[in-house]
Amino acid sequence: MAQPQVTETTVLRNDFALLIDGEAVSAAERLEVVNPATGEIFALCPSAGRAELERAVAAARKAFPGWSKRSFEDRTLFIRRMADILRANSKMLADLLTREQGKPVSQSVDEINRAASQAEGLTQIRIASETITDDAERRIEVRYAPLGVAGIITPWNAPINLAAGPLVSALYTGNTVVLKPSPYTPLTTLKIGELIRDVFPRGVVNLLAGGDALGQWMTEHPGIDKIAFTGSVATGKKVMASAAGTLKRVTLELGGNDAAIVLDDVDPKAVAPKLFFAGFVNSGQVCMAIKRIYAHESIYEPLCEALAAEAHKWKVGDGLDPATQLGPIQNRMQYDKVVSILDDTKKAGARVLAGGDVPKTPGYFVNPTLVTDVEETSRIVREEQFGPIVPVLKFKDVEEVLKRANDTRYGLSGSVWSRDPERAAAIAARLEVGTAWVNQHRATAANVPFGGAKESGYGRVYSEMGLKAYLEPRVISVLKQPM
Ligand code: NAD
Repeated sequence: MAQPQVTETTVLRNDFALLIDGEAVSAAERLEVVNPATGEIFALCPSAGRAELERAVAAARKAFPGWSKRSFEDRTLFIRRMADILRANSKMLADLLTREQGKPVSQSVDEINRAASQAEGLTQIRIASETITDDAERRIEVRYAPLGVAGIITPWNAPINLAAGPLVSALYTGNTVVLKPSPYTPLTTLKIGELIRDVFPRGVVNLLAGGDALGQWMTEHPGIDKIAFTGSVATGKKVMASAAGTLKRVTLELGGNDAAIVLDDVDPKAVAPKLFFAGFVNSGQVCMAIKRIYAHESIYEPLCEALAAEAHKWKVGDGLDPATQLGPIQNRMQYDKVVSILDDTKKAGARVLAGGDVPKTPGYFVNPTLVTDVEETSRIVREEQFGPIVPVLKFKDVEEVLKRANDTRYGLSGSVWSRDPERAAAIAARLEVGTAWVNQHRATAANVPFGGAKESGYGRVYSEMGLKAYLEPRVISVLKQPM
């Protein structure tokens, strides 16, 4: 496939700016943004360098004392105004998100609205100081103080949803923000910056589009106190190493290789649509997508059939077409990786239940693919494919399948499916993951902690636990003895 290019007829959009200290700012360098459904560059936006980062960090530091002094209730009013603006502009933002990310426009609308509801959900969580002792002799309490400037780095698969959680968490707890979206999907984040420019006091929210180097500079910067990173395991390790130089607090939300274990008592036809959705929505480009399906031998063949039937129902195409259910892979690098895993899987003799090919159209499309008869050691089982290709593997007994499901350095989430939810829950509790679901997958909420075990992450987002990752506990210990 050819490199992304600009055709003679393309009119490039160029109406994007960085947000620094409450102002729309340009930069000497530009990022070229490709529409993955066409493979063509369709927009340019400013790409921040060191000078813009310095300005943004200085603005965020200057804004910190004023913002951190405000009450939770007061900060909530600003955040709720942002949520209202997101909802009011969801159609315009969703159209842009689909052009840069590829997902169907209805799912882009959902993503924008979900960001707004996350904002509302997180601002309902109360953070209170705790009194450990209060008697005649002494009072010991723990208060929670904001850290300072939070640097937020986001990936390309759900750029707005994955920005909203850390952005709202940082702001609600009294921190100011410098946020960098992925260079593949910077536009919707910058457009939101334009819409909220006058919502927050100057310098409280700064948005910098830029390349990977900008992310690294953020992790090294002494003026940034915390990094909230969402992305791949490999980059997460670099972030943690780099943040060690200034002992920054870090929250890492990384990749996964989620197993779904389907027990012998399920109705294959009832469970197949749910498994398919959790594996393939956003063309499998979801950290907590089902990436391996383990089916009990007694229901294995009917489940394979029901899953294949499901795959044939889903329409692949440009996300701007309202009939599309699965869009393209978001970028060329990821497309090449998915195609290479597909080729290796087929070469190793896998049985292809559905798909297995790539449409001969421009853009980074891969048809939804289910494979079976694959080795446990194959790339499709061991690696995070992050694309619309999922293996179905047969198992005999529960001990064996738990061993196989847990035999990975990933530990984001997983699920167990059964007619008997309590039987499934006992098995789910033995998955070495941050979240184990029963008869569902991908269910998250603002008041429930989410994050990865093992190499799938460090720390948790959402919930009181996630919010406290933006706060420093401060013990006030008073000896009630006049001196
Ligand atoms: P990535 O790691 O390549 O990039 C993520 C971000 O990090 C981008 O903004 C990038 O510019 C920046 N970056 C790159 N190098 C950097 C460095 N050295 N220092 C600091 N920042 C740097 O990830 P991606 O390919 O954009 O996203 C896909 C991955 O994200 C998948 O593995 C997926 O599972 C994971 N993900 C995890 C979650 C979660 O909540 N656990 C959610 C979504 C995606």
